[in-house]
Amino acid sequence: VPPALVDFNPNDEAHDESLRPQRLEQVVGQKKVVDRIRIMLDATRKRGDTLGHLLLDGPPGIGKTTLATVIPRELGVDCQIAAGPALSAPKDLLPYLTNAGERSVLFIDEIHRLPANVEEFLYPAMEDFRIDIALGEGLNARTINVQLKPFTVIGATTRAGMLTAPMRDRFVNREHLDFYETPDLEEIVRRNAKKLKTTITDEAANEVARRSQGTPRKANNILLRTRDYATLSHPDGQITTEIAVHALGMLEIDELGLERQDRRYLETIISIFGGGPAGLQAIAHSMSLSPDSLEDDIEPFLLRMGLIQRTPRGRIVTPTGYTHVGRKP
Ligand code: ADP
Repeated sequence: VPPALVDFNPNDEAHDESLRPQRLEQVVGQKKVVDRIRIMLDATRKRGDTLGHLLLDGPPGIGKTTLATVIPRELGVDCQIAAGPALSAPKDLLPYLTNAGERSVLFIDEIHRLPANVEEFLYPAMEDFRIDIALGEGLNARTINVQLKPFTVIGATTRAGMLTAPMRDRFVNREHLDFYETPDLEEIVRRNAKKLKTTITDEAANEVARRSQGTPRKANNILLRTRDYATLSHPDGQITTEIAVHALGMLEIDELGLERQDRRYLETIISIFGGGPAGLQAIAHSMSLSPDSLEDDIEPFLLRMGLIQRTPRGRIVTPTGYTHVGRKP
């Protein structure tokens, strides 16, 4: 086994930067979302205004960060990037707010992870571009009011449902990014093969696209590993269908695009919980994974493919799910 194929993680973010589209015209697919964003940008530019706050939600690796970084570039304004989980207190958010230049963008990834006190600190900043800072304690306590420059928050979340209502209401623009169709992923694979100075046949691009779970990040990572395999096994390094199929087999990605972890999830519910309903916590515990990673990385695609169902009493493997892992319902 070529070393490059060991420890494959299709969710690896290491190559995101080098393959990320820089301009809106390079963003593939998500046509309706991109069209609406283009209108938002044109109108904002025409008015000489600040873009309204924008919330992007969708599964991991689907283009939220890409859009969030393309937008300020299109507007010709500065962009700051903050990670929700790293903002544990208002003081962590403060420098971002005071540094935010006129009309600049502050991208907050995983915005559903902000603690309540940080969220509350952010509200007046988003609404009136001001913040209240508490100084001193007891009798000496006072609040000073700091005026900020008008700026735009772009929030990204994998769980729109976990966002508090007041937080959600602060976003005048909200866009949902869904899984990509195969032709769009093929286009992404072909473009990125070119960026990587590799050739890939159309048929092989289709093979990679079909097995990427509708997710560009996964398509990119599969492409990279397939390219390694092609380099080692073919004199001209071209990615043919034969090579792609072989590499996908080694990566243990099946016909539907399920990975080892996805099949393990189905097997766990079938073997340990009699096919369900099984609670998220219990499944996570049996698999030694966090419930968050199940909900973010594994379940959305299985739900979409109809391999599992979510019921009030827990997760159930559907007959299609049983058949997929070679079991009888
Ligand atoms: P998210 O922030 O939703 O987790 P990213 O925006 O970081 O996902 O996307 C991961 C990678 O997938 C990017 O670096 C980029 O190469 C690719 N990608 C995502 N969306 C698109 C798209 N619409 N067109 C082209 N490439 C994309």
